[in-house]
Amino acid sequence: MVIVTVSTAFQPVLERIAEEVERTPGRGRSADYIPALAAYDPRRFGMAVAEPDGTVHGVGDWREPFSAQSVTKVYTLALDLAREGDALWEHVGREPSGTPFNSLVQLEYEDGIPRNPFINAGALVVTDRLHTRSGDAAGELLAFLRAESGNPGLDFDLEVAASQGAHGDRNAALAHFIASYGNIDNPVPVLLDQYFRQCSVAASCADLALATGFLARHGIRADGTRLLSRSQAKQVNAVMLTCGTYDAAGDFASRVGLPGKSGVGGGIVAVAPDRCTVCVWGPGLDKRGNSVAGVAALDRFAALTGLSVF
Ligand code: GLN
Repeated sequence: MVIVTVSTAFQPVLERIAEEVERTPGRGRSADYIPALAAYDPRRFGMAVAEPDGTVHGVGDWREPFSAQSVTKVYTLALDLAREGDALWEHVGREPSGTPFNSLVQLEYEDGIPRNPFINAGALVVTDRLHTRSGDAAGELLAFLRAESGNPGLDFDLEVAASQGAHGDRNAALAHFIASYGNIDNPVPVLLDQYFRQCSVAASCADLALATGFLARHGIRADGTRLLSRSQAKQVNAVMLTCGTYDAAGDFASRVGLPGKSGVGGGIVAVAPDRCTVCVWGPGLDKRGNSVAGVAALDRFAALTGLSVF
């Protein structure tokens, strides 16, 4: 009897997906509200799969650093949850918003408690809380990503951070509005500086697939120490599944069936608990801010491997 392990099956699957993506004409548009990201060619494509033991497989531009943007919200959530536990959920909810990632509308009805940690409003609250507890939220994020990816060269892209700052009226409005409800502790300019540096992290598909491994290992970091309890890792995965791709989360869950988190740099990470983590990069976005090639590639990945949480 021949036993084909998932491990040996990943590389041909990735190559098949890359060929299919290459033949796909429409790729969406790079994010243009952050000018530094507008220069990305929407035809770039990379994809990496990391197994729980740290083995990585990749195709295309899988070693090319790109702007992680909102993918970083997974790690700041985990780092803050590790520090303060369930008290965090009194300050940010766990429900899908059904609104765009940068929307302001629900905040007034809901007294400054953002719907979830993955829309910008919720991410600002999480980064604020992590900053209060660690003294340097962006620094703690960077140290975590370097350790988990094994890449000491991983860093902020200060040009991207400055570009976001120069075009950051909406995030500033969100932060001030939440602060008016007393749900932000740090001065808003301090928080925005932390948040923009957080989003500016430049990392490759390989880096981010590895950095997300703790969610496939139920909270265990690459060095074997525990970051999150099993129950907290479940919470992060569940919020990714229900809220990680904003107002397209239902569609993503139906098509891909794995917890996932997107960013406007064109990256998406996804988790198959116990089996692997995936990161895909395609800078062309749909109108909800998710990578067109990334969602299509993860859809194919789930179909070809049979991996799903359902
Ligand atoms: N830095 C981006 C913003 O705040 C992150 C949004 C995203 O990646 N969806 O607008």
